[in-house]
Amino acid sequence: MRHATCTFGLATGLLLSACGTTNGQTPKTESTMSDTMSQYDHSGNPYYSHTDTTKLDVPLSEWKRILPPDLYYIAFEKGTERAFTGKYWDFDGIGTYACAVCGNVLFQADAKFASSCGWPSFFKPERKEAILYHEDRTYGMVRTETTCGRCGAHLGHVFDDGPKPTGLRYCINSVSLEFIGKQ
Ligand SMILES: [Zn+2]
Repeated sequence: MRHATCTFGLATGLLLSACGTTNGQTPKTESTMSDTMSQYDHSGNPYYSHTDTTKLDVPLSEWKRILPPDLYYIAFEKGTERAFTGKYWDFDGIGTYACAVCGNVLFQADAKFASSCGWPSFFKPERKEAILYHEDRTYGMVRTETTCGRCGAHLGHVFDDGPKPTGLRYCINSVSLEFIGKQ
């Protein structure tokens, strides 16, 4: 009996010290999370910037050389990721979403809403010029394609069945986005 009590006391001590360690690391885990949300390594991409809004005129061959194949495919061959497979469709971190190709800030997390479509959905862009709009008549539909206002990368489409106040639903490929967590 005495032996059992002693073991229990030891176990409690271990548990307490384990908890203490975890608590001590909490702030660090939070700041690391924003870093690990980065999908891409931009060290070989001299055009990437969150502050420069100057329009880019980069040849496709150059983008093809710089960008990872999945991003090049969505951005410049107008591909679409499969619904419910992207990194951000079911993600609600606090921060900013930028173009994964050039870093142009596209949306704030507070303009993101839960949509059942399987792609990250936003009701409003960061600024009017952040996104360009084009009529898209492919697949027997008339849709509005959205591209990055800085680099011209394909992002997704915008529909008019979104929530208030804009009534818009920007349906964007996760691959095209880079989440920047709030510091
Ligand atoms: Zn861009």
